[in-house]
Amino acid sequence: MTIPKVLTIAGSDSGGGAGIQADLKTFQELDTFGMSAITALTAQNTLGVHGVYPQTIEAIEAQIDAVLSDIGADAIKTGMLFSADIIKLVARKLRQYEAKNIVVDPVMVAKGGATLLQNEATEALIHELLPIATVVTPNLPEAAKLLGIKEMETIEEMEAAARDIYKLGPSYVVLKGGHLKNGPAVDLLFDGERSYLLETERIDTKHTHGTGCTYAAAIAAELSKGKAIKEAVHVAKQFITEAIRHSLSIGSGIGPTNHHA
Ligand code: PLP
Repeated sequence: MTIPKVLTIAGSDSGGGAGIQADLKTFQELDTFGMSAITALTAQNTLGVHGVYPQTIEAIEAQIDAVLSDIGADAIKTGMLFSADIIKLVARKLRQYEAKNIVVDPVMVAKGGATLLQNEATEALIHELLPIATVVTPNLPEAAKLLGIKEMETIEEMEAAARDIYKLGPSYVVLKGGHLKNGPAVDLLFDGERSYLLETERIDTKHTHGTGCTYAAAIAAELSKGKAIKEAVHVAKQFITEAIRHSLSIGSGIGPTNHHA
């Protein structure tokens, strides 16, 4: 039996809601075969990130080589990459293996404020990874950081930002509007010519840990099946909306989205 294969290159969340764990659960739910290369361990629970332990370049390279030299991947998602050196390695490996369907989630800061990407690594992300990305999936603070501008507050500003991020080299931009103050949850897909709005109702919950990871992982899973980008993003938006609707009140802080919703 064959199955679409998806690799996530990201950080581990011991609390099970974000990072590698969210990605693998999402891959499984969407009927794909999930694999992982762990860039950093985090000691984490619903109260926040208590420690970050980046892995060595050697260990990260060995994981990617092991997976791609044998099993291969129909799509690859990147999440927490932490440092410029890790970003450079990942970009080199993606080029070496001529990776297709690359989803770059430009993870920077956890909701509680913990650094998941060192400040000086943003340039490496822009110059090394965005030019080879199929799709990049920033939220509004991440988009603002990539462009060196203030955070967008309207759909018009989001459209302009998506166009500018597109100029950095990805084939598609999915700009996630969850941080907009009021109204529905609107995301925007820009394909180099026009923007498409994806809109769902805003779900009132504080339990949104792992939302970004899950959304990008769902896009990667759908791309691995050969879906076109518009369809992949549409399915991923439905998936994340249900995961938030059924989010879990576990632990005493911010609970995770429910991948098995
Ligand atoms: N921990 C890891 C390993 C992540 O990759 C991410 C997000 O990408 C987070 C934590 C962030 O989680 P939160 O949704 O709480 O900001």
